[in-house]
Amino acid sequence: MKMKHLLHLSLLLAMFPYCAVTSNQSVSVSKGTAAELQNIPLTEKGPIVLKKIVASDWLADREGLINFKDPKVAAAGLQPGKEPIQIYFYVIDHPKFGRFVVDTGMADVFRKDQKEWPVSGIVASQMNIPDLKIHTTIKEWMAKDPKKVEGIFLTHMHLDHIFGVSDFPVGTPIYTGPNEPGDSRFLHMFVQGTTDRVLGPNTVLSELNFSGKEEGSKINIIDFFGDQSFYVIYVPGHTAGSLAFLVKSTTGTQLLTGDTCHTKWGWENSVTPGGFTKDQDANVASLNLLKQIAAKFPKIQVHPGHQSFTAIAPTK
Ligand SMILES: [Zn+2]
Repeated sequence: MKMKHLLHLSLLLAMFPYCAVTSNQSVSVSKGTAAELQNIPLTEKGPIVLKKIVASDWLADREGLINFKDPKVAAAGLQPGKEPIQIYFYVIDHPKFGRFVVDTGMADVFRKDQKEWPVSGIVASQMNIPDLKIHTTIKEWMAKDPKKVEGIFLTHMHLDHIFGVSDFPVGTPIYTGPNEPGDSRFLHMFVQGTTDRVLGPNTVLSELNFSGKEEGSKINIIDFFGDQSFYVIYVPGHTAGSLAFLVKSTTGTQLLTGDTCHTKWGWENSVTPGGFTKDQDANVASLNLLKQIAAKFPKIQVHPGHQSFTAIAPTK
């Protein structure tokens, strides 16, 4: 980063020390029905056809992905360094309610010269671009598997989860967790302009409502379609409105953790992400909730945010 930039940034930071992740408009929406963990049926399979698609391979800092303050990290001998990660999106085909996606992979614009990316110079300089290897874009995937997408669920609004939004038709509903679009963090000063450009100018975000029946109470789980096939789980911590998903698929019960847990090692050892997480205590509580859910289903397939227990071939 150049000295001139640093000066500008420090001035800006002094004026606006905190900043929302996006300035895009958002509305609160109530969908589905409240669910409780003990009432989720123990059947393993369900009606949803789930596809997991590798949008890209990448490398990220292990200290961002794993909380090195956890004593289990030193005990395991983990060292700081670069960790191989992948960017995914998930296709949810429901026999009655149609197609939805979780997260958005990469948009076609990222195939172009970096000058055309909707990413600011400062953000690009932090992105480790030489190690980003794109396998498929949303546009390429849609050309091969065309079907109307009824809605997009964002596990959260970090850039690597929204990079594909602009390839979906304008007006496709985008669902986030409560307070996610307004999530305020020092870091967002650098990121907000890029997030706004990646989302596009007329994108309205729908924040799912997790309010309970009693004034001020919160629920953790929504049965989105109301048929016990697809549960949206509120897991604040990594970001203010992080979400995870429990899917009753034709090949068994599957848990999409989002970045409440980035890595295989983190899931196996119950260690939260490191510097990439906003609120460690809340992230710990949310990871514990996901562990509790997973423990109910002996054959569950768990999908951490950026790694896979079973390697999947990138689509060509
Ligand atoms: Zn994240």
